[in-house]
Amino acid sequence: MERGGKFVLPGDFLGTSEEFIPGNGVYDEGGNLYASHIGKVSIGHNRVIYVHPKVETPPTIEEGDVVIGQVVDIKDNVAVVNIACVKGKEKREVAAPGQGIIHISNVKSGYVTELRQEFGYLDVVKARVIDAKTLRLSTDAKDLGVIKAMCMRCKRDLRRRGNVLFCERCKRVEMRKLSEDYGKGLI
Ligand SMILES: [Zn+2]
Repeated sequence: MERGGKFVLPGDFLGTSEEFIPGNGVYDEGGNLYASHIGKVSIGHNRVIYVHPKVETPPTIEEGDVVIGQVVDIKDNVAVVNIACVKGKEKREVAAPGQGIIHISNVKSGYVTELRQEFGYLDVVKARVIDAKTLRLSTDAKDLGVIKAMCMRCKRDLRRRGNVLFCERCKRVEMRKLSEDYGKGLI
């Protein structure tokens, strides 16, 4: 199967460590190789497989910045976030808003078994940039995580109740990696 030139998303399966040696933009999990960011696959000499980032880092986003974005995809290992703005630089337009990713190991301290219990589709999250080049994000801090979420069943905004979220309309309870700023708006 020809994989070179293929456009992949973070978390896409690329092959096994028996077939390839992981290069930039590729990570190994139990012998399976996955893309760590959005880009094009290329296979170099000695069977090294790379993913070249498609998304150029907007000049205003730097390592250590806190960004606000929306979760647009959740895979087994990564949540994909459309970055909307950078905290403290809200008034400066982000030239080309990028897509960041939160790997399952950067969600919170402690082991995460199911990423879909930490984030939901279209959740608004606050996250810290830990790698500006590949736009890897982390929510591993009290103030980081989901700040706004809606009910998966009826789309109403969820209210915080202790450590869980609750839908006042349909009584559904949902789990998230919550920021202590949940429900306070953009902070
Ligand atoms: Zn509901």
